[in-house]
This record gives sequence, structure tokens and C-alpha cells, in this order.
Amino acid sequence: MADIDGRARERADRRDRAVRAAVEQGLLGPDAAVAGLLDVTGIRESAAALRAAFDAVTAPGTPVLHAFAVKATPLVPVVRLLHEAGIGAEVASPGELALARAAGVPPARTVLDSPAKTPAELREALALGVAVNADNPQELERLDALVCSAPARSPLGLRVNPQIGAGSIGATSTATRTSKFGVALRDEGAREWVVRAYAERPWLTRLHAHTGSQGIPLPLLARGVAEVYALAEEINTAVGRRQVDTIDIGGGLPVDVTSEAAEPTHDAYARVLAGRVPGLFDGRYGLVTEFGRSLLARHGTVVTRVEYAKSAGGRRIAVTHAGAQVAARTVYAPGTWPLRIAAYDAGGRPKTGPEVVQDVAGPACFSGDLLAEGRALPRLEQGDYAAALDTGAYGFAHHYAYNSLARPGVYGYVPDGAGGMAFAVVREPQTLAEVVAESGGAHASALTTLRAPGSR
Ligand SMILES: *Cc1c(COP(=O)(O)O)cnc(C)c1O
Repeated sequence: MADIDGRARERADRRDRAVRAAVEQGLLGPDAAVAGLLDVTGIRESAAALRAAFDAVTAPGTPVLHAFAVKATPLVPVVRLLHEAGIGAEVASPGELALARAAGVPPARTVLDSPAKTPAELREALALGVAVNADNPQELERLDALVCSAPARSPLGLRVNPQIGAGSIGATSTATRTSKFGVALRDEGAREWVVRAYAERPWLTRLHAHTGSQGIPLPLLARGVAEVYALAEEINTAVGRRQVDTIDIGGGLPVDVTSEAAEPTHDAYARVLAGRVPGLFDGRYGLVTEFGRSLLARHGTVVTRVEYAKSAGGRRIAVTHAGAQVAARTVYAPGTWPLRIAAYDAGGRPKTGPEVVQDVAGPACFSGDLLAEGRALPRLEQGDYAAALDTGAYGFAHHYAYNSLARPGVYGYVPDGAGGMAFAVVREPQTLAEVVAESGGAHASALTTLRAPGSR
């Protein structure tokens, strides 16, 4: 525990030094008013901690694939960094599969989940040998046809929804009664259908569930896993052999965005699972996990310059360049997705001094565009910096093009050994030419020259 808190302190210290170094090196400044920063050391530590957590509870020799949910941080260098740290990729769209391939993740370490895979996507995945989890009976029929025409190298499974209920956030609760994901296990006849589906398909060897994301408490996550394990046992008993050889438990470990504390850890989760579902770890089943947020959220910070400091109706407002375009969830649902904000002075040093209740506003033209509302922080002045913490997953990598605001640059950092930080470009800031190009710039007169066929 002390060790974990020590790590959290070191991470916070690296972050402070990175902000200062980014200002000193010009990654942030008057001409670069917002940037995303990624803590490479922290990402490596989290990857190692995840692997160690499951190694500690699985029987020796158990195949375990930790597949990073690429949607959490869809950046090729991040996926490559994780791949080097022994983590595969979970992808859920053609774009995410392309990112994983560009990062060099081999098909054998890639898992494709998505509720809406087209025949072409399924064909490609099977041709590559990427593992596929079918979402529903119709998708399984498509797999039937593909497996019939050429034996698949891909491990194939079925996603089920244990329907164990929601956590505190509806939008990220995937195991509700009416969730759109997987085969709803408690619906009339569904369980029997699933067992029969496996009995009729000897090539169906995996079982998958992802019980939810942020807002799901550990015991509920563990219950989802216990349900899937029980189903795997039931299937194998019914078919009389160990047909289901791998269980994919999904991701979903929440991150406490209200504090720096490292809880809950992958280690704590693995222990809870081992206590609740010991049979899952005794070596009879291979394991796949699909963590996203818990691997990356802590290691990203979006930092923005305070362009103006003003007041309205007695409220202090820091007008910055980070709003809905880099923190869409927070801006549209601030109660559900609060962000911690850190204040830095114009030199990038942590700001001290008495706290003042203030809003941290973004640049977008609607009044709800706030990173934080009525927050007590050291008083932000023009030229200072504000940082939104824990935005490494589902944060600045998820650009929202409101107001044609350009995607900020993203930079990875490591301590340079001399008290400063070394940076690498992860993603270039988007140029205005690129903004125009993706907004139909090449088709400027498409509408003014459009005529009904036959007219002049
Ligand atoms: C989003 C998602 C994940 C990752 O969830 P986190 O909360 O980021 O760990 C894993 N598996 C599936 C199928 C998902 O949709």
C-alpha cells in the first residue's frame, strides 16, 4: 500500500515536472495553447502491474492475454508502447484494428469485439487470425458461413450479457437487462440457446463478457465474471469436453478521478476474482482481459493556457483553450464525469496561494463549455496554465470537432535524468489546412455547381 501511494506521489511529481518542461521547451505557450501529455514511465508501470497482478493468482503456464481496449486511447505509439510491455489489443472497429496493426500488434494478440461487425470485417479478421467474439445469433450465423468455406485460424467466441445490473453510470453499464451488448443470458430460453449453440459448433472455444466500465463497483464486476465462468462450466459439462478453453473477462476496472490514490488496483481486482471464482485461475482456462481506462487514464494530462481571466456575476472565470473538444464527456455530463484540475503559473510551476472559487472555461461557443464549475483553486490569472488530470483514457485522444477546434498535439514524456523531462511527439497538432481538408475543403463548389440531371 505504502508502495502504491509512493508510486502515485512519484507520478504526480513527474506530471508537475512535465508541465514545467513543456512550457520551457515551447510545447505549451502563446502559440500552443493546449497540449496532451502522456507519462511513459507510468504507462509502463501500469502494464507491468497488470501482468504481475494476474500472474500472482493464475496457475503456472496458464495462457493470459491482456488486450488493451484501444478505444480508451486510440494512439498508435501508445498501443506500440503497451505491445512492447507485453499487452495486446482489443479492437472494436476497422479503424481500431488498423491502429493495432500499425502499432505492430500481431493478430494472435488482437481481439475483435464490436456489436456491429460487417461481413467484410469478419472476413478480414478471420483471414488475419484475429480472435473474434460474436455479439448475437445473427453474427454467429455469419461466422457459420465463413467457417464453413475455410477453417478459421481465429479463436472464436460469443459475448454474453449476464444481466447483473448497472453501476452508477448508465452510459457505461453494459450488463443491464436491456443492454445492447451480447446475448442476454437471463432472457427466456437464452441460456439453453447458448449451450446448444456451442454444442453445434465445435469451433466455438471462447466465452466473453464485459460487465461495464467506470462506475461499476468491484463486487459487481466480479459477479459478472463469476456468471461467465459458471456458464463455461455448464457448456463444457453439456458437451462432455473442455470445448470452452478461454474466458475473456473484459475490462471495466474503474479509476477514482476524485483523488490521486491508486485504488482500486489491478492487483486488488485480481485478488477479488481469485477469491470469488477460484476455478477460473486453476489452469483449466486461458484468460483474456480487456482493460482500457485503468491502464491509461492516470497517465494523461491535458494542459491549457489561460487566455483571459475575468469575472461575471461575482464568479471568477478562467477562459482557456480546453473544453468540449478535449473533454466532451465532462462538458456534457459534468456531474458524471468530473475532472480534477491543477493550477500552474505562467512558468509551468504548481500554483500556490489562497484558493478562489472559479470556473475553468473552454474556448467553445456554448455556455456549458466548462472543464470545472465553481471549483476552489489557486486564483488563475492570464498566462497561467490549467491542467485536467486523469485524461489519458477517453479524454484528449477523443477529439470532438466542435467549433472546428484543431486537435491538440500529444507528447509523451520521460525523466531526462537531469531533473527535467524529455518529450516525444505522439500526435502532431492538427493544422488549419487539415481542418479545412476534413471539412470538405476539396469540394468547395460541390453544392453551388450541383444541378438536377438534365437542367442547364
Ligand atoms: C470499452 C470496453 C472495454 C474497456 O473498458 P474500460 O472501462 O476502459 O476498461 C473492454 N471491452 C469491451 C468489449 C469494451 O467495450
